[in-house]
Order: sequence, then structure tokens, then C-alpha cells
Amino acid sequence: MQINCPHCQHKAHIASRNNLNDEKTIADLYCNCSNPACAARFVMQLGFQRWINPPVTNTLELAASLIGKLSKADRVALLKEFG
Ligand SMILES: [Zn+2]
Repeated sequence: MQINCPHCQHKAHIASRNNLNDEKTIADLYCNCSNPACAARFVMQLGFQRWINPPVTNTLELAASLIGKLSKADRVALLKEFG
């Protein structure tokens, strides 16, 4: 992940991270600007927003749960369709 200094727009380095929740989806990133003429230090906030694709394990669990609710006849029909 690239962080840019909000003052001079040069690259900045993440010096440390302070997680703000147990899931580690929200964090303060303590950053140092790499431009020696600026040398600013600042905090950026990182936050999880949404899934674009859910994790594979979630998809498999969801599929297994749905298939488990089908009748045996529907499962056989499903296997014929995708097998
Ligand atoms: Zn800077």
C-alpha cells in the first residue's frame, strides 16, 4: 500500500500501526514523509469498507448450507446439472 504525504504528495512510510478494533479492520497508520525537505509525520486512518468477492471459505460454507437444505431429489438434479 502506498501512502502519500498530504502536504507534499511524496511517498511516505508507515512507521507503525495502531489497530482500533479486535478484528483489525480499522487502524491508525503513523506515517513519515520520505521527502527530506518536508519530513512531516502524520496519521492516516485505514478502514475495511466492503468485500468485492467474499472469501472462498465463506462461499463454500454458504453453498454447503444451501445444498444441505435441498431435498435429495433436488441435490441429485443439481449434481446432474453441474456434474
Ligand atoms: Zn511531505
